[in-house]
Amino acid sequence: MGVAARKLELVEPVARFASKPIHMLIGGKWVPSLSGMTFPTYDPSTEEIITQVAEGVKEDIDEAVKAARKAFEDGPWPRMTPSERGRLIWKLADMIEDHLEEFAELETLDNGKPITISRAADVPLAVDLFRYMAGWATKIEGNTIPISVPYAPNTRYLAYTIREPVGVVGQIIPWNFSLLMAAWKLGPALASGCTVVLKPAEQTPLTSLRLGELIMEAGFPEGVVNIVPGYGETAGAALAAHPDVDKVAFTGSTEVGRLILQAAGGNLKKVSLELGGKSPNIIFADADLEVAIPGAANAIFFNHGQCCCAGSRLYVDHRVFDKVVTGVAEHAQRIRLGPGMDPATQMGPLVSREQLHRVCGYLRSGLEEGARAVAGGRRHGDTGYFVEPTVLVDTRPGMKVEEEEIFGPVVSAIPYRNVEEVASAANNTVYGLAAGIWTRDVTTAHRLASRIRAGTVWVNCYNIFDAAMPFGGYKQSGWGREMGHDAIEMYTEKKAVCLPM
Ligand code: ADP
Repeated sequence: MGVAARKLELVEPVARFASKPIHMLIGGKWVPSLSGMTFPTYDPSTEEIITQVAEGVKEDIDEAVKAARKAFEDGPWPRMTPSERGRLIWKLADMIEDHLEEFAELETLDNGKPITISRAADVPLAVDLFRYMAGWATKIEGNTIPISVPYAPNTRYLAYTIREPVGVVGQIIPWNFSLLMAAWKLGPALASGCTVVLKPAEQTPLTSLRLGELIMEAGFPEGVVNIVPGYGETAGAALAAHPDVDKVAFTGSTEVGRLILQAAGGNLKKVSLELGGKSPNIIFADADLEVAIPGAANAIFFNHGQCCCAGSRLYVDHRVFDKVVTGVAEHAQRIRLGPGMDPATQMGPLVSREQLHRVCGYLRSGLEEGARAVAGGRRHGDTGYFVEPTVLVDTRPGMKVEEEEIFGPVVSAIPYRNVEEVASAANNTVYGLAAGIWTRDVTTAHRLASRIRAGTVWVNCYNIFDAAMPFGGYKQSGWGREMGHDAIEMYTEKKAVCLPM
């Protein structure tokens, strides 16, 4: 491991984009905040300011909501055919793909993740999501319903349903996959015909704002997508509470999810939430350990553990516990830490000083309570927000590291003796986002998959995502599903129409 000092040259468009103060997108125009305030966004590997970004607060959100409402009611958007909407979304996907390197660099610069990951995962997945959702624009159907109406025996009725856009949508996204989360949110909203006010995370506003430029270049009518960067407690809270927003879609912590819900209560806007997790990843003694060990390491260390579905509780059959823990620990120790822009880097810094303190706080609390780090356990270096990939053993139920979402590269490895024990331990959490099962026995896999209370269960794999596969949480991991056709349902209302024949 080692934090390389060298930083690669940025491609020219990134250097240009990142060197200027950046405005917000309201009603098709790039404008400074009404107050003139800006906030800095940082390079987490050097702690240096990349650039200043317009800081939206309630007044800016009000303007953005007005623009979105106008575009929803009077603009060309509601008159466009589904085919035209679909083609615009597809065009946007093509444009993002044409700017793949630029988006990858911007994401890496702002978030810290390895450039190899931004290139291979974040940007292509965003492209794919928009293409998938472009296809939905022309396939949002209702149905015809044979009704009997017992109190009108002599009349026959035709009843059918149509799906209509829910209206003006507020979307609040996190920093861990900034561009991709913008795609998860915007794709289905646009395919459904909604208009949007998007608030990116204050830690990583750059890719969303660059996306805004492409959205306007692609030809989306003004006001269809408005992007207001700013802090959660001000811009985010104003959007969630806004009386003229019909729906709020949020991805982030369970704690903030609760605040969103309260704020949404004023006008009873629709709410969808994709929240935290403490996902169990379960290895059986019969698993192919050659696959399961690197799989378990990837489950927690991918994106530095900054994934809501990270496999942060690793349950291992006691007969293979030592072997698996040694394997995962060796994997952790081999991970090359460095600035995201270095193509040799396998793990970059955490996103912010706040996250660094939070994760290091969990490490201290775990170690003080008797856990042992068989790999990692500390901050790495003294510049940048790097944390060593960490494998903890000797944790116990009730310890914070075993119960709470750390959102960093820290896994608790826990031995178990039988299926009953592990099934109940896996479900012993307030969360229910994802789980992993590693076994060669299909019966074990299916039985356990059906017992685990989580929105996604991966068997002999982990972190497999697809635009067509729904993702979301049971219990306190959220409401609703992102991606797949479920996402379209979250952005449409169903109307029943009935007439005598
Ligand atoms: P994390 O803890 O991982 O930073 P958060 O849940 O705090 O995640 O943030 C996710 C998103 O929610 C960000 O865009 C953030 O600005 C926003 N946010 C934070 N607090 C609030 C709030 N009180 N109301 C609305 N949005 C918020």
